[in-house]
Amino acid sequence: MENKNLLAIAREFGSPVYVYDSSKIVSQYNRLNDAFKKVKQVKLNYAVKALSNLAILKLVNSLGAGLDTVSIQEVQLGLAAGVKPGDIIFTPNGVSLEEIEEVAAMGVQINIDNLSILEQFGTKHPNVPVCIRINPHVLAGGNSKISVGHIDSKFGISIHQIPHILRIVENTGMNINGIHMHTGSDILDVEVFLYASEILFETAKHFKDLDFIDFGSGFKVPYKEGDIETNVEEFGEKLTKRFNDFCKEYGKELTLGFEPGKFLVSEAGYFLAKVNVVKQTTSTVFAGVDTGLNHLIRPMFYGSHHEIINVSNPEGRQRFYSVVGYICETDTFATNRRISEITEGDIIAFKNAGAYCFSMASNYNSRFRPAEVLWHNNEAHLIRQRETFEDLTKNQVDVDIFSKVVEKVS
Ligand SMILES: *Cc1c(COP(=O)(O)O)cnc(C)c1O
Repeated sequence: MENKNLLAIAREFGSPVYVYDSSKIVSQYNRLNDAFKKVKQVKLNYAVKALSNLAILKLVNSLGAGLDTVSIQEVQLGLAAGVKPGDIIFTPNGVSLEEIEEVAAMGVQINIDNLSILEQFGTKHPNVPVCIRINPHVLAGGNSKISVGHIDSKFGISIHQIPHILRIVENTGMNINGIHMHTGSDILDVEVFLYASEILFETAKHFKDLDFIDFGSGFKVPYKEGDIETNVEEFGEKLTKRFNDFCKEYGKELTLGFEPGKFLVSEAGYFLAKVNVVKQTTSTVFAGVDTGLNHLIRPMFYGSHHEIINVSNPEGRQRFYSVVGYICETDTFATNRRISEITEGDIIAFKNAGAYCFSMASNYNSRFRPAEVLWHNNEAHLIRQRETFEDLTKNQVDVDIFSKVVEKVS
């Protein structure tokens, strides 16, 4: 997006404000889809938790994507956006049997990641097809080393427990129609990912009625210059070959699934904030902005790097700034970062603000959550209003139970 458009949006809708460029989401979707064009059936389910605005759900669904959801509320958001239940997969962790049953009753594909719920669900609903989330215990280490089986994660059913799964399936007569993994590990190292895929294929052979294999996500996007990103084209070529071979061996054309979140929306997002104060100290120059960890927590939570540009003065002389928020916590966005000269009142933009930014925002310090704007066909569309004071109080119950302290007049 061009600076002048970002500035105009900040002027029109105020700051702070999230802006999403729809054309970037479309091009990322097409890129991933193209990488697997030699697989007959591919299903990309967008991970709603990355950015859950209804307009974004409608946009990705219009491209052909389904949704990957982790709570019943995300499922409901998907349905509210007009996505068909059959195009939604529910991949929660640690949720109740009741929630899973409720979602299954909506016609959504469920994915179970522990033996206890698998057995209970299979016993009660042997006719509802279920996908199983496997933990392949594969980790990418330094220098392409592959470590297997020594790290435990709360996600998925261990591949060492496949005999248990098979016993449950046999005893309940349930139907397993999909196998899934989402290790969260980088596909930066294509070989490591392919190695994990082999474990998934091995697992798949145990189940005779599969419709799909879901490889989760793990696509990396660049956050700063010089960052390596997943080579989607190379990855597509290698996994396509392996997947098609497997389908032949399995004797059925399966659907290949992915659940990209970050890959689709991260780079489409810009978070615009205004500089309230430039504060020179003995050690650095702080640029204090009208937002904080309440609206963009990734730098503080994960140590994530977000590029920062001064959209009000993009060609100015480069100087060093520590960009900090207005929250009464240490909410540092960047330390001694080179940014073109900042004057109070300037609008700065945080890049890669599409994924896990607004969706992790809170009201801490009783601030309003920002507005969201979709930039589509060269026009700005407001897709979420900035909160108002009413939002802060509407669920609070005003109790009248404290007697007034009467001040004694002496
Ligand atoms: C969060 C999540 C994703 C998306 O991960 P990204 O890194 O954003 O692509 C995919 N699948 C599942 C099950 C998830 O929980």
